[in-house]
Amino acid sequence: MSVGVTTKAPIVEFVDVGKTFNAGTRKSFTAIEQLDFSIDDRPGVGEFISLIGPSGCGKSTVLNLIQGFSDVYPPTRGEVRIHGTKVVGPGRDRGMIFQKYSSFPHLTVLRNVAFGLEINREQLGFSDSEIEHRCMELIEKVGLAGHERKYPHQLSGGQQQRVAIARTLVLKPSIVLMDEPFSALDEPTRYDMQRLIHDLWHEVQATVFLVTHSISEAVYLGDRVWIMTPAPGRIGATFDDIVPPRAGGDPLLMQEDPGFKEAVGAVARRFSAIESSRRASEPGGE
Ligand code: ADP
Repeated sequence: MSVGVTTKAPIVEFVDVGKTFNAGTRKSFTAIEQLDFSIDDRPGVGEFISLIGPSGCGKSTVLNLIQGFSDVYPPTRGEVRIHGTKVVGPGRDRGMIFQKYSSFPHLTVLRNVAFGLEINREQLGFSDSEIEHRCMELIEKVGLAGHERKYPHQLSGGQQQRVAIARTLVLKPSIVLMDEPFSALDEPTRYDMQRLIHDLWHEVQATVFLVTHSISEAVYLGDRVWIMTPAPGRIGATFDDIVPPRAGGDPLLMQEDPGFKEAVGAVARRFSAIESSRRASEPGGE
């Protein structure tokens, strides 16, 4: 929730943003429309926003516009701003973690994690030993100590996703974008990853956007949960006061916590209402 009055520009701001793919052709499709929101900059604290919604409602489009990803950016209308400045393309201040493991297969874990630092080496002014030190610190934090000389194919899916997380966080981005990062993983591994993100992100102090299909994951990880409407996507409902998991709250044990169950139930009911209104508005719908 926006706390207090801040004079700083919001960290992320969407001003009347719309995105139509293939505009002016028969394939024209408006993924998002009139999207307006603003996230306060909370240095040293950050915030975790979970984005859920029906498939195809523009959730990834929102992340891609924040990232400035060239396949999607720019918006067809409106403006996306980071710290008050219009986004013009990708930047080191933003890091993306995808569902598919995005590591380079021919590089070791260590070299994968170092990659972003190495290509920015001149600007960052890091020596070889500083790069190695930073990478090893992150590799340890994501639970991959001892695996740093291995190649991605020698790791499990969960471990590969840990590499992707380390690769992103090593650059200390102020905004982290996660697009269904755990949906390719089996359930126990998914809980492991939720634990890891829960433990890591307070340390990272970033503003995080997580797109997920899992309402329980959205509630467990998010400070806020936003539900998008079917395309053209807008924010259909917001839950800005999600009760944080109790200290040490394990994602598996949390499933039985009455407060957690109640929060998941409330989000699920709203999600279902948004889905039903879509079905009712479809030709031949209810
Ligand atoms: P979600 O993440 O909510 O499932 P997306 O943001 O991925 O939805 O996509 C919303 C809609 O926009 C989908 O119908 C998708 O096919 C379309 N879309 C997304 N990216 C592109 C693109 N680069 N070119 C054309 N259409 C796209």
